[in-house]
Amino acid sequence: MPEPAPILIAGGGIGGLGLALALAGHGLASSVLEARAELAEAGAGIQIGPNGVHILRAIAVAERLAPLAGVPRAILVNHATSGRHLAELPLGAWIAHRHGAPYWTAHRADLHAALLEAARENGLVEIVPGFAIETFDVTGTGVTARSSDARTRSGAALIGADGLWSAVRERLIGPSVHAFAGKTATRTVIAASAMPALVDPGATGVWLAPDAHVVHYPVRAGAEIALVVICDEGWREPGWSGPADRAALLARMRGAAPALTAVLEAGEVWHKWALFDPQPLAAWSRGPVTLLGDAAHPILPFLAQGGVMALEDGLTLARELAASPDDPATACQRYERARRKRTARVQAASRRNGQIYHLAGAAAIARDLALGALPGRTVMSQLDWLYGWRPGDGAGAHARR
Ligand SMILES: Cc1cc2nc3c(=O)[nH]c(=O)nc-3n(C[C@H](O)[C@H](O)[C@H](O)COP(=O)(O)OP(=O)(O)OC[C@H]3O[C@@H](n4cnc5c(N)ncnc54)[C@H](O)[C@@H]3O)c2cc1C
Repeated sequence: MPEPAPILIAGGGIGGLGLALALAGHGLASSVLEARAELAEAGAGIQIGPNGVHILRAIAVAERLAPLAGVPRAILVNHATSGRHLAELPLGAWIAHRHGAPYWTAHRADLHAALLEAARENGLVEIVPGFAIETFDVTGTGVTARSSDARTRSGAALIGADGLWSAVRERLIGPSVHAFAGKTATRTVIAASAMPALVDPGATGVWLAPDAHVVHYPVRAGAEIALVVICDEGWREPGWSGPADRAALLARMRGAAPALTAVLEAGEVWHKWALFDPQPLAAWSRGPVTLLGDAAHPILPFLAQGGVMALEDGLTLARELAASPDDPATACQRYERARRKRTARVQAASRRNGQIYHLAGAAAIARDLALGALPGRTVMSQLDWLYGWRPGDGAGAHARR
Protein backbone atom coordinates (compact mmCIF):
# COMPACT_ATOMS: atom_id res chain seq x y z
CA MET A 1 0.00 0.00 0.00
CA PRO A 2 1.45 3.45 -0.86
CA GLU A 3 1.84 5.89 2.05
CA PRO A 4 -1.08 8.35 2.20
CA ALA A 5 -0.09 11.79 0.85
CA PRO A 6 0.76 14.27 3.62
CA ILE A 7 -1.24 17.38 4.40
CA LEU A 8 0.79 20.40 3.21
CA ILE A 9 0.90 23.26 5.71
CA ALA A 10 2.19 26.63 4.52
CA GLY A 11 3.81 28.37 7.50
CA GLY A 12 5.60 27.11 10.59
CA GLY A 13 4.27 29.69 13.05
CA ILE A 14 2.05 28.97 16.05
CA GLY A 15 -0.90 27.97 13.85
CA GLY A 16 1.01 25.79 11.38
CA LEU A 17 2.94 23.87 14.03
CA GLY A 18 -0.14 23.49 16.23
CA LEU A 19 -2.03 21.98 13.26
CA ALA A 20 0.85 19.60 12.41
CA LEU A 21 0.84 18.27 15.99
CA ALA A 22 -2.95 17.98 16.08
CA LEU A 23 -2.88 16.03 12.79
CA ALA A 24 -0.17 13.75 14.16
CA GLY A 25 -2.41 13.08 17.16
CA HIS A 26 -4.89 11.55 14.67
CA GLY A 27 -2.12 9.59 12.92
CA LEU A 28 -2.03 11.96 9.91
CA ALA A 29 1.30 13.02 8.34
CA SER A 30 2.06 16.61 7.36
CA SER A 31 4.80 18.66 5.70
CA VAL A 32 5.26 22.14 7.18
CA LEU A 33 6.57 24.40 4.39
CA GLU A 34 8.13 27.47 6.05
CA ALA A 35 9.48 30.45 4.13
CA ARG A 36 12.21 31.29 6.61
CA ALA A 37 15.47 29.37 6.51
CA GLU A 38 15.38 29.13 10.31
CA LEU A 39 12.18 28.70 12.22
CA ALA A 40 12.08 31.11 15.14
CA GLU A 41 9.82 33.75 16.69
CA ALA A 42 10.51 37.41 17.34
CA GLY A 43 11.22 38.07 20.99
CA ALA A 44 8.12 39.39 22.73
CA GLY A 45 5.30 38.05 24.85
CA ILE A 46 2.08 36.17 24.18
CA GLN A 47 -0.85 35.60 26.53
CA ILE A 48 -2.42 32.16 26.40
CA GLY A 49 -5.90 32.04 27.91
CA PRO A 50 -7.27 28.79 29.41
CA ASN A 51 -8.76 27.84 26.02
CA GLY A 52 -5.22 27.90 24.59
CA VAL A 53 -3.68 25.97 27.50
CA HIS A 54 -6.30 23.22 27.01
CA ILE A 55 -5.06 22.87 23.41
CA LEU A 56 -1.40 22.84 24.43
CA ARG A 57 -2.31 19.97 26.73
CA ALA A 58 -4.16 18.16 23.93
CA ILE A 59 -1.12 18.36 21.61
CA ALA A 60 1.32 17.46 24.42
CA VAL A 61 3.13 20.81 24.40
CA ALA A 62 1.89 22.14 27.75
CA GLU A 63 4.39 20.18 29.84
CA ARG A 64 7.30 21.57 27.79
CA LEU A 65 6.13 25.15 28.22
CA ALA A 66 4.94 24.94 31.85
CA PRO A 67 8.36 25.53 33.47
CA LEU A 68 8.77 28.74 31.43
CA ALA A 69 5.23 30.11 31.63
CA GLY A 70 4.18 33.08 33.71
CA VAL A 71 0.97 32.66 35.72
CA PRO A 72 -0.24 36.19 36.49
CA ARG A 73 -2.39 36.39 39.61
CA ALA A 74 -4.66 39.17 38.26
CA ILE A 75 -5.05 41.95 35.70
CA LEU A 76 -4.44 45.30 37.38
CA VAL A 77 -6.02 48.13 35.38
CA ASN A 78 -4.60 51.61 35.97
CA HIS A 79 -4.96 55.08 34.57
CA ALA A 80 -1.79 55.71 32.51
CA THR A 81 -1.25 59.34 33.47
CA SER A 82 -2.54 59.64 37.04
CA GLY A 83 -1.48 56.09 37.93
CA ARG A 84 -4.87 55.70 39.64
CA HIS A 85 -5.88 52.08 40.21
CA LEU A 86 -9.13 51.35 38.35
CA ALA A 87 -9.81 47.64 38.74
CA GLU A 88 -8.42 44.24 39.68
CA LEU A 89 -9.63 41.33 37.55
CA PRO A 90 -8.79 37.85 38.84
CA LEU A 91 -6.60 35.37 36.95
CA GLY A 92 -4.36 32.90 38.84
CA ALA A 93 -6.18 30.21 40.81
CA TRP A 94 -9.60 31.76 40.17
CA ILE A 95 -9.53 31.43 36.38
CA ALA A 96 -7.74 28.04 36.51
CA HIS A 97 -10.55 26.70 38.68
CA ARG A 98 -13.27 28.29 36.57
CA HIS A 99 -12.02 26.95 33.23
CA GLY A 100 -10.00 23.90 34.22
CA ALA A 101 -6.73 25.33 32.92
CA PRO A 102 -4.51 28.26 33.91
CA TYR A 103 -4.06 31.61 32.18
CA TRP A 104 -0.44 31.63 31.01
CA THR A 105 1.82 34.36 29.73
CA ALA A 106 4.90 33.31 27.79
CA HIS A 107 7.81 34.53 25.76
CA ARG A 108 6.82 33.92 22.13
CA ALA A 109 10.18 32.30 21.49
CA ASP A 110 9.48 29.78 24.29
CA LEU A 111 6.01 28.91 22.97
CA HIS A 112 7.32 28.54 19.43
CA ALA A 113 10.34 26.48 20.56
CA ALA A 114 8.06 24.13 22.55
CA LEU A 115 5.85 23.60 19.48
CA LEU A 116 8.86 23.17 17.18
CA GLU A 117 10.64 20.68 19.46
CA ALA A 118 7.47 18.58 19.74
CA ALA A 119 7.04 18.71 15.94
CA ARG A 120 10.66 17.75 15.27
CA GLU A 121 10.39 14.77 17.61
CA ASN A 122 7.21 13.56 15.93
CA GLY A 123 7.79 11.11 13.08
CA LEU A 124 4.59 12.23 11.34
CA VAL A 125 5.72 15.85 10.97
CA GLU A 126 8.22 16.92 8.31
CA ILE A 127 9.58 20.47 8.57
CA VAL A 128 10.75 22.02 5.31
CA PRO A 129 12.54 25.34 5.98
CA GLY A 130 13.26 27.86 3.22
CA PHE A 131 10.16 26.92 1.20
CA ALA A 132 8.24 30.14 0.49
CA ILE A 133 5.00 29.14 -1.21
CA GLU A 134 4.27 31.34 -4.18
CA THR A 135 1.43 29.45 -5.77
CA PHE A 136 -0.32 26.08 -5.93
CA ASP A 137 -2.36 23.90 -8.28
CA VAL A 138 -5.23 21.64 -7.36
CA THR A 139 -4.73 18.35 -9.20
CA GLY A 140 -6.92 15.28 -9.60
CA THR A 141 -5.33 13.69 -6.54
CA GLY A 142 -4.61 16.64 -4.25
CA VAL A 143 -2.56 19.84 -4.32
CA THR A 144 0.90 20.76 -5.60
CA ALA A 145 2.57 23.75 -3.92
CA ARG A 146 5.29 25.67 -5.74
CA SER A 147 7.94 27.75 -3.96
CA SER A 148 9.42 31.06 -5.08
CA ASP A 149 12.54 29.15 -6.21
CA ALA A 150 10.42 26.74 -8.30
CA ARG A 151 10.55 23.68 -6.01
CA THR A 152 7.34 21.66 -5.68
CA ARG A 153 5.68 19.57 -3.00
CA SER A 154 2.49 17.54 -3.38
CA GLY A 155 -0.02 16.53 -0.75
CA ALA A 156 -3.63 15.57 -0.11
CA ALA A 157 -4.61 19.11 0.95
CA LEU A 158 -3.00 22.51 1.45
CA ILE A 159 -3.55 24.61 4.56
CA GLY A 160 -2.48 28.27 4.38
CA ALA A 161 -1.15 29.04 7.88
CA ASP A 162 1.11 31.70 6.39
CA GLY A 163 -0.06 34.66 8.44
CA LEU A 164 -1.54 38.07 7.81
CA TRP A 165 0.15 38.51 4.42
CA SER A 166 -0.78 35.00 3.26
CA ALA A 167 0.34 33.99 -0.25
CA VAL A 168 -2.05 31.01 -0.15
CA ARG A 169 -5.00 33.33 0.58
CA GLU A 170 -4.03 35.62 -2.28
CA ARG A 171 -3.91 32.69 -4.73
CA LEU A 172 -7.12 31.20 -3.28
CA ILE A 173 -9.40 34.23 -3.18
CA GLY A 174 -7.45 37.15 -4.64
CA PRO A 175 -5.77 40.14 -3.02
CA SER A 176 -7.26 41.28 0.31
CA VAL A 177 -7.40 44.88 1.34
CA HIS A 178 -6.01 45.15 4.86
CA ALA A 179 -7.48 48.18 6.60
CA PHE A 180 -4.81 49.90 8.67
CA ALA A 181 -6.12 50.07 12.23
CA GLY A 182 -4.48 53.47 12.88
CA LYS A 183 -2.49 51.88 15.70
CA THR A 184 0.96 50.44 16.23
CA ALA A 185 2.27 47.93 18.76
CA THR A 186 5.79 48.43 20.11
CA ARG A 187 7.20 45.56 22.15
CA THR A 188 10.15 44.55 24.27
CA VAL A 189 11.10 42.25 27.15
CA ILE A 190 12.82 43.46 30.35
CA ALA A 191 14.24 41.78 33.45
CA ALA A 192 11.68 41.45 36.26
CA SER A 193 14.30 42.95 38.59
CA ALA A 194 14.04 46.20 36.58
CA MET A 195 10.39 46.67 37.55
CA PRO A 196 9.83 49.60 39.92
CA ALA A 197 8.81 48.70 43.47
CA LEU A 198 5.29 50.07 43.02
CA VAL A 199 4.43 47.78 40.11
CA ASP A 200 3.48 44.15 40.81
CA PRO A 201 5.62 41.94 38.53
CA GLY A 202 3.43 38.93 39.27
CA ALA A 203 0.33 40.49 37.73
CA THR A 204 -0.65 41.62 34.25
CA GLY A 205 -0.62 45.43 34.22
CA VAL A 206 -2.88 47.42 31.88
CA TRP A 207 -2.46 51.22 31.73
CA LEU A 208 -5.09 53.22 29.86
CA ALA A 209 -4.79 56.63 28.18
CA PRO A 210 -6.95 58.24 25.46
CA ASP A 211 -4.55 57.56 22.60
CA ALA A 212 -2.38 54.75 23.94
CA HIS A 213 -2.31 51.85 26.34
CA VAL A 214 0.40 49.70 27.83
CA VAL A 215 0.25 46.02 28.83
CA HIS A 216 2.93 44.07 30.72
CA TYR A 217 3.04 40.56 32.10
CA PRO A 218 5.51 38.01 33.47
CA VAL A 219 7.30 35.57 31.14
CA ARG A 220 10.16 33.07 31.61
CA ALA A 221 8.66 31.84 34.90
CA GLY A 222 8.54 35.42 36.14
CA ALA A 223 12.21 36.24 35.52
CA GLU A 224 11.32 38.62 32.67
CA ILE A 225 8.47 40.96 31.84
CA ALA A 226 7.00 41.40 28.34
CA LEU A 227 5.88 44.95 27.54
CA VAL A 228 3.68 46.22 24.72
CA VAL A 229 2.75 49.83 24.02
CA ILE A 230 -0.19 50.37 21.65
CA CYS A 231 -0.36 53.91 20.22
CA ASP A 232 -2.77 55.65 17.86
CA GLU A 233 -0.50 56.76 15.02
CA GLY A 234 -0.09 56.70 11.26
CA TRP A 235 3.04 54.54 10.77
CA ARG A 236 1.91 51.60 8.65
CA GLU A 237 4.76 49.54 7.24
CA PRO A 238 3.38 46.11 6.34
CA GLY A 239 5.09 42.94 7.48
CA TRP A 240 6.51 41.94 10.80
CA SER A 241 8.73 43.55 13.36
CA GLY A 242 10.76 46.63 12.45
CA PRO A 243 13.15 48.16 14.98
CA ALA A 244 11.55 50.99 16.97
CA ASP A 245 13.02 54.33 18.04
CA ARG A 246 13.23 54.08 21.84
CA ALA A 247 13.66 57.84 22.35
CA ALA A 248 10.62 58.59 20.18
CA LEU A 249 8.55 56.04 22.11
CA LEU A 250 9.52 57.54 25.48
CA ALA A 251 8.78 61.04 24.14
CA ARG A 252 5.39 59.80 22.93
CA MET A 253 4.65 58.45 26.42
CA ARG A 254 5.85 61.59 28.23
CA GLY A 255 3.30 62.48 30.88
CA ALA A 256 2.79 58.87 31.97
CA ALA A 257 2.60 58.19 35.71
CA PRO A 258 6.08 57.85 37.29
CA ALA A 259 5.68 54.10 37.90
CA LEU A 260 4.70 53.50 34.27
CA THR A 261 7.54 55.73 33.03
CA ALA A 262 10.00 53.66 35.07
CA VAL A 263 8.66 50.46 33.48
CA LEU A 264 9.00 51.91 29.97
CA GLU A 265 12.49 53.30 30.60
CA ALA A 266 13.67 49.80 31.50
CA GLY A 267 13.10 48.69 27.89
CA GLU A 268 16.23 48.91 25.74
CA VAL A 269 15.56 47.31 22.35
CA TRP A 270 12.02 47.75 21.05
CA HIS A 271 10.33 46.42 17.92
CA LYS A 272 7.32 47.85 16.23
CA TRP A 273 4.35 46.46 14.26
CA ALA A 274 1.60 48.31 12.42
CA LEU A 275 -1.80 46.80 13.24
CA PHE A 276 -4.19 45.84 10.45
CA ASP A 277 -7.84 44.96 10.83
CA PRO A 278 -9.34 43.15 7.83
CA GLN A 279 -13.03 42.33 7.82
CA PRO A 280 -14.12 38.66 7.95
CA LEU A 281 -13.61 36.90 4.59
CA ALA A 282 -16.73 35.74 2.72
CA ALA A 283 -15.18 32.24 2.49
CA TRP A 284 -11.76 30.81 3.16
CA SER A 285 -11.90 27.24 1.76
CA ARG A 286 -12.04 25.94 -1.80
CA GLY A 287 -11.70 22.25 -2.59
CA PRO A 288 -8.81 20.73 -0.60
CA VAL A 289 -7.33 24.16 0.22
CA THR A 290 -8.19 26.19 3.29
CA LEU A 291 -6.74 28.88 5.58
CA LEU A 292 -6.02 28.95 9.30
CA GLY A 293 -5.03 31.52 11.94
CA ASP A 294 -4.11 35.04 10.81
CA ALA A 295 -4.32 34.01 7.14
CA ALA A 296 -8.04 33.31 7.61
CA HIS A 297 -9.11 35.81 10.28
CA PRO A 298 -6.50 38.28 11.57
CA ILE A 299 -7.46 39.54 15.01
CA LEU A 300 -6.42 42.79 16.63
CA PRO A 301 -4.44 42.04 19.80
CA PHE A 302 -6.86 43.67 22.32
CA LEU A 303 -8.21 40.36 23.61
CA ALA A 304 -4.83 38.60 23.31
CA GLN A 305 -6.40 35.73 21.37
CA GLY A 306 -5.12 35.69 17.75
CA GLY A 307 -2.56 32.96 18.39
CA VAL A 308 -4.99 30.99 20.53
CA MET A 309 -7.61 31.14 17.74
CA ALA A 310 -4.97 29.70 15.37
CA LEU A 311 -4.50 26.81 17.84
CA GLU A 312 -8.28 26.28 18.11
CA ASP A 313 -8.47 26.26 14.28
CA GLY A 314 -5.75 23.62 14.10
CA LEU A 315 -7.43 21.29 16.54
CA THR A 316 -10.79 21.63 14.76
CA LEU A 317 -9.34 21.18 11.27
CA ALA A 318 -7.31 18.13 12.29
CA ARG A 319 -10.44 16.52 13.72
CA GLU A 320 -12.37 17.13 10.50
CA LEU A 321 -9.54 15.87 8.25
CA ALA A 322 -9.24 12.75 10.40
CA ALA A 323 -12.99 12.16 10.14
CA SER A 324 -12.87 12.29 6.30
CA PRO A 325 -9.34 11.28 5.27
CA ASP A 326 -10.47 10.51 1.70
CA ASP A 327 -12.46 13.73 1.28
CA PRO A 328 -10.36 16.70 2.45
CA ALA A 329 -12.54 19.15 0.51
CA THR A 330 -15.58 18.28 2.64
CA ALA A 331 -13.45 18.33 5.78
CA CYS A 332 -12.22 21.85 4.93
CA GLN A 333 -15.81 23.05 4.44
CA ARG A 334 -16.93 21.55 7.77
CA TYR A 335 -13.94 23.11 9.53
CA GLU A 336 -14.68 26.55 8.10
CA ARG A 337 -18.33 26.27 9.16
CA ALA A 338 -17.29 25.27 12.69
CA ARG A 339 -14.87 28.21 13.05
CA ARG A 340 -16.52 31.09 11.18
CA LYS A 341 -18.91 32.40 13.82
CA ARG A 342 -16.52 32.14 16.74
CA THR A 343 -13.56 33.78 15.00
CA ALA A 344 -15.76 36.62 13.69
CA ARG A 345 -17.02 37.16 17.24
CA VAL A 346 -13.47 37.32 18.59
CA GLN A 347 -12.45 39.74 15.79
CA ALA A 348 -15.34 42.05 16.70
CA ALA A 349 -14.85 41.79 20.47
CA SER A 350 -11.17 42.54 20.12
CA ARG A 351 -11.82 45.59 17.95
CA ARG A 352 -14.37 46.83 20.52
CA ASN A 353 -11.91 46.33 23.39
CA GLY A 354 -9.37 48.50 21.55
CA GLN A 355 -11.94 51.28 21.26
CA ILE A 356 -12.83 51.02 24.95
CA TYR A 357 -9.15 51.11 25.98
CA HIS A 358 -8.57 54.39 24.11
CA LEU A 359 -11.73 56.25 25.14
CA ALA A 360 -11.32 59.93 26.02
CA GLY A 361 -13.25 62.56 28.01
CA ALA A 362 -16.66 61.72 29.46
CA ALA A 363 -16.71 58.29 27.85
CA ALA A 364 -13.43 57.39 29.58
CA ILE A 365 -14.81 58.59 32.92
CA ALA A 366 -17.92 56.45 32.45
CA ARG A 367 -15.72 53.44 31.57
CA ASP A 368 -13.58 53.95 34.68
CA LEU A 369 -16.65 54.28 36.92
CA ALA A 370 -18.17 51.10 35.48
CA LEU A 371 -14.90 49.21 35.91
CA GLY A 372 -14.64 50.35 39.52
CA ALA A 373 -18.26 49.50 40.31
CA LEU A 374 -18.30 45.94 38.96
CA PRO A 375 -16.68 43.11 40.91
CA GLY A 376 -13.61 41.81 39.02
CA ARG A 377 -15.09 38.32 38.90
CA THR A 378 -18.20 39.65 37.17
CA VAL A 379 -16.09 41.37 34.51
CA MET A 380 -14.06 38.21 33.88
CA SER A 381 -17.16 35.99 33.84
CA GLN A 382 -18.36 37.98 30.83
CA LEU A 383 -15.53 36.28 28.94
CA ASP A 384 -16.67 32.73 29.71
CA TRP A 385 -17.73 32.36 26.06
CA LEU A 386 -14.10 33.00 25.08
CA TYR A 387 -12.06 31.12 27.67
CA GLY A 388 -14.60 28.30 28.07
CA TRP A 389 -13.89 26.73 24.65
CA ARG A 390 -12.73 23.13 24.92
CA PRO A 391 -11.00 20.77 22.50
CA GLY A 392 -13.90 18.79 21.09
CA ASP A 393 -16.16 21.84 20.81
CA GLY A 394 -17.23 22.96 17.38
CA ALA A 395 -18.43 26.49 17.79
CA GLY A 396 -17.86 25.78 21.51
CA ALA A 397 -20.41 24.65 24.05
CA HIS A 398 -19.51 27.66 26.17
CA ALA A 399 -19.60 29.93 23.13
CA ARG A 400 -23.37 29.52 23.16
CA ARG A 401 -23.71 30.82 26.71
C1 LIG B 1 1.24 43.20 19.21
C2 LIG B 1 0.59 41.85 19.14
C3 LIG B 1 0.31 41.18 20.32
C4 LIG B 1 -0.32 39.93 20.28
N1 LIG B 1 -0.60 39.29 21.44
C5 LIG B 1 -1.22 38.10 21.40
C6 LIG B 1 -1.50 37.41 22.62
O1 LIG B 1 -1.18 37.87 23.72
N2 LIG B 1 -2.15 36.20 22.54
C7 LIG B 1 -2.52 35.64 21.33
O2 LIG B 1 -3.09 34.55 21.32
N3 LIG B 1 -2.25 36.29 20.18
C8 LIG B 1 -1.62 37.49 20.17
N4 LIG B 1 -1.34 38.12 19.02
C9 LIG B 1 -1.75 37.51 17.73
C10 LIG B 1 -0.80 36.42 17.30
O3 LIG B 1 0.53 36.88 17.29
C11 LIG B 1 -1.17 35.93 15.92
O4 LIG B 1 -2.55 35.76 15.83
C12 LIG B 1 -0.47 34.61 15.63
O5 LIG B 1 0.91 34.80 15.54
C13 LIG B 1 -0.99 34.01 14.34
O6 LIG B 1 -0.32 32.80 14.10
P1 LIG B 1 -0.25 32.23 12.63
O7 LIG B 1 0.51 30.95 12.75
O8 LIG B 1 -1.60 32.24 12.02
O9 LIG B 1 0.60 33.30 11.80
P2 LIG B 1 2.10 33.78 12.00
O10 LIG B 1 2.50 33.76 13.41
O11 LIG B 1 2.21 35.07 11.25
O12 LIG B 1 2.97 32.67 11.24
C14 LIG B 1 2.97 32.58 9.84
C15 LIG B 1 4.18 31.78 9.40
O13 LIG B 1 4.12 31.60 7.98
C16 LIG B 1 5.38 31.90 7.41
N5 LIG B 1 5.14 32.32 6.02
C17 LIG B 1 4.73 33.55 5.59
N6 LIG B 1 4.59 33.54 4.26
C18 LIG B 1 4.91 32.28 3.83
C19 LIG B 1 4.95 31.65 2.57
N7 LIG B 1 4.63 32.30 1.44
N8 LIG B 1 5.33 30.35 2.49
C20 LIG B 1 5.66 29.65 3.61
N9 LIG B 1 5.65 30.22 4.86
C21 LIG B 1 5.26 31.50 4.96
C22 LIG B 1 5.97 32.96 8.33
O14 LIG B 1 7.37 33.03 8.19
C23 LIG B 1 5.51 32.46 9.70
O15 LIG B 1 6.41 31.52 10.24
C24 LIG B 1 -0.68 39.36 19.03
C25 LIG B 1 -0.38 40.03 17.84
C26 LIG B 1 0.26 41.27 17.90
C27 LIG B 1 0.57 41.97 16.61
